[in-house]
Amino acid sequence: MDDFVIKIGLEIHVQLKTESKMFCPCKVDVDSEPNKNICPICTGQPGILPSPNKKAIYYAILVSRALNCKIPDFLYFSRKNYFYPDLPKGYQITQYGISTGIGGEVPVLLDKEIKYFSIERINLEEETAKSFHIEGKVYLDFNRCGIPLLEIVTPPVFDSPLVVINFLKSLRKILMYLNVSDCNMEKGEFRVDTNVSVNLKEKISDHRVELKNLNSLSAIKDALFYEIERQKNLLLKGEKIERETRLWDEEKKETRLMRSKEFVEDYRYFPEPDIPPFKVKEEWLKENLPPLPDYFYKKLIEEGAEFKEIEVITSSPFLVDFTLKVLEKIPYKKVKGWILTEILQHVENVEDIKSLPFSTSEFIDFLNKILKGEIPRHLGQEIIKISMQNNLPLNKLIEEKIEIKGKSEIEEVIKEVIEENAHVVEKIKSGKVSAISFLVGRVMEKLKGKANPKEVKELLEKRLLN
Ligand code: ZN
Ligand code: MN
Repeated sequence: MDDFVIKIGLEIHVQLKTESKMFCPCKVDVDSEPNKNICPICTGQPGILPSPNKKAIYYAILVSRALNCKIPDFLYFSRKNYFYPDLPKGYQITQYGISTGIGGEVPVLLDKEIKYFSIERINLEEETAKSFHIEGKVYLDFNRCGIPLLEIVTPPVFDSPLVVINFLKSLRKILMYLNVSDCNMEKGEFRVDTNVSVNLKEKISDHRVELKNLNSLSAIKDALFYEIERQKNLLLKGEKIERETRLWDEEKKETRLMRSKEFVEDYRYFPEPDIPPFKVKEEWLKENLPPLPDYFYKKLIEEGAEFKEIEVITSSPFLVDFTLKVLEKIPYKKVKGWILTEILQHVENVEDIKSLPFSTSEFIDFLNKILKGEIPRHLGQEIIKISMQNNLPLNKLIEEKIEIKGKSEIEEVIKEVIEENAHVVEKIKSGKVSAISFLVGRVMEKLKGKANPKEVKELLEKRLLN
């Protein structure tokens, strides 16, 4: 069964989160009314002069540094010539020959270890317009045209669709931690093309099939599994696999031929004459990088967290930072349920968490009260729920909820109730255990219902039945 060699490579396009476009001052906002944020530069009128966006260059360098790429001293742009309606100039300004980031690697969380997968290059380029196909007509919206785009290319280093998915998850996280892109796949801010080649071990050829139209992680996974099977079957039948581009059909769950692959030479790259080469600024290379996901993976692995748990907690840079601060005071085992279940059940998308209604120290106090039994668990769960749903700090809720619920106060009331109900106590001690519920009721009444009846019952049993 291991007679096949599978090689998968990736080409990822990421929209950068800048205010303005790559080569013109137009606003980056794809949600405005179509063709609102456009100008002669991003619509490719004759006589235009593009001027590169410094923030985008800074972001590209930041990502290159985070992925341990080599960054050249000088950079320049090139023209990639091809015709397509979404590219009004007839060429795309991109990088060729020299990339912003050369080489490099992505630390990927795989089960309980971190593996490093190399990348080939990171190019900075411009986005194309968006085309819509409606009732046989094509509509173009140039709001997207010219948005800064990173192109991240890997060598064919992956041998399984599942590893690819983990790689993409880790890469997305890095970009989000650096805050250079929101990486929303549904909105097309993070797009993945992949190439797959399956070979018989004894006969390796240089074919590769490119897959396009992969709009979600699950589409990528399904398409890769499908394509690997398709190629295996062809090889088993003795057929040759062509170099071609195939489209993933999400409904039929299959890939179909789009076109035979054009070769690199077709693009007739040459240096962009309107933008002189420029030096990479020293200060861009010096600034401290924020802590990145692999730092947190390592910490959480040390704390004994499971793969799935690490994946969830690190989805939000805020949440993982919060969690680690709590872990300085309380062990992971005692914290995880409160974060992963009690807090996160009130959150729609973990990636979107940028704050919580309470501070870390507040949460640590709260957990300590739970661990000491000063707040019963069920009440703690309710407090978290109210806090999360109404965006209220914990401290105030704890005061309101457990005002009279301290254990010592319950004990005092129990003492009173026992004294006042000597005849019931007598009955219980002579075997009528069920009468305890009467005393529970009396205690609850005196506490105005503000205690956990289960806890009250346990305390009474401890006093009367031992
Ligand atoms: Zn423009
Ligand atoms: Mn590209």
